[in-house]
Amino acid sequence: MSTFTGITTHDVRFPTSTMLDGSDAMNPDPDYSAAYVSVHTDADDGLEGDGFVFTIGRGNDVEVAAIKALEDHLVGRNVEELLADMGAAWRLFVYDSQLRWLGPEKGVEHMAIGAVLTALWDLKAKRAGMPLWQLLSSMSPEELVDCVDFRYLTDVLTRTEALEILKRAEPGRERRTQEILESGYPGYTTTPGWLGYDDEKLVRLAREAVEVEGFNQIKLKVGADLDEDRHRLRLAREAVGPDIRIAVDANQRWDVPEAIEWIRALSEYDLAWVEEPTSPDDVLGHAAIQKAIAPIPVATGEHMMNRVLAKQYLQAHALSILQMDATRVAGPNENLAILLLAAKFGVPVCPHAGGVGLCEVVAHMSMFDYVAVSGNMENRRIEYVDHLHEHFVSPTVIRNGRYVAQRTPGAGTEMLPASIEEFTYRG
Ligand SMILES: [Mg+2]
Repeated sequence: MSTFTGITTHDVRFPTSTMLDGSDAMNPDPDYSAAYVSVHTDADDGLEGDGFVFTIGRGNDVEVAAIKALEDHLVGRNVEELLADMGAAWRLFVYDSQLRWLGPEKGVEHMAIGAVLTALWDLKAKRAGMPLWQLLSSMSPEELVDCVDFRYLTDVLTRTEALEILKRAEPGRERRTQEILESGYPGYTTTPGWLGYDDEKLVRLAREAVEVEGFNQIKLKVGADLDEDRHRLRLAREAVGPDIRIAVDANQRWDVPEAIEWIRALSEYDLAWVEEPTSPDDVLGHAAIQKAIAPIPVATGEHMMNRVLAKQYLQAHALSILQMDATRVAGPNENLAILLLAAKFGVPVCPHAGGVGLCEVVAHMSMFDYVAVSGNMENRRIEYVDHLHEHFVSPTVIRNGRYVAQRTPGAGTEMLPASIEEFTYRG
């Protein structure tokens, strides 16, 4: 029997803006940051749970404060009881009626809850001696649905239907686990495509992505200048040839009519998808864009604030690819809900990643999805960006354009103490 004794937080910021890494049409100078939390107990095993929220610099202190505000919910609580009922852990934070006013279930507060829930899942996986994807894949359909809050979902997805989806995927779990362990999960890379990179760097990195790293899809940032976008797409297409998929990402830059016009002007370059064409809250706007640019798929989700919005996007056929994010919603619980919704609609999930640690964390959800939820890898790939992996205890490894399966116990969230110390923001 052990007890939660407290949490510690860190405002960690990497000065990535100096290299224009991560630059796009809306975010010209991000400093990739993590509002980082460690959950402590008095257990003899000495294990802690780690989680974080990804931000891009200013405001990371606000996120840290929101995480710190959750500490009182944990301190003094029985560890074994809470980790055995992760649905109760969700309710402990999400159902706090006063904190709820700050969302509800969206934004800074909800993301802070996500960080703490992720830290709890990290602790649960470390205690089980398993990487999170395997821990989730070893849970029964009943145990998994107990982690999901079906409030606001039941018009589209009931607990019973979710159970059916998970039970359908039960046969073959073992075979798919072996497959993940042997050959990993497909990735694609955004490394060549940052808006601030010059032509030479774009072409060199695009070639490397394909010829050296083995990716079959790259992604370019677009949306600042149409002529420039056409120029860069032409260069990238020449560099990688006709058989490699090229996606584009506008990072919410356009209004709906402008998006349709702009995408049509780029369509000759054979686009794999168009990402975040407009406001992430505009479900009907996305639906209009998807209808107008079909068969080019619309992809979005990295700023999707919760499972309710995921439900609406799917109901409205407003996207063709769902890009869930590891730290935008309230942790693995809510991402499980989103995976179940996507499975019900047969929509592929291609998670957003990059930033700090997003690759490390979200890969667990995709691998688990393949083993125990959708059972499908077709048209699915996880974003990869070659930044900042060296700061994690169990960094992402890419082989032949694919994510290698994590084998280290935990959720992939733990940062090296030396990195936390060196990059803690001191104003
Ligand atoms: Mg994006």
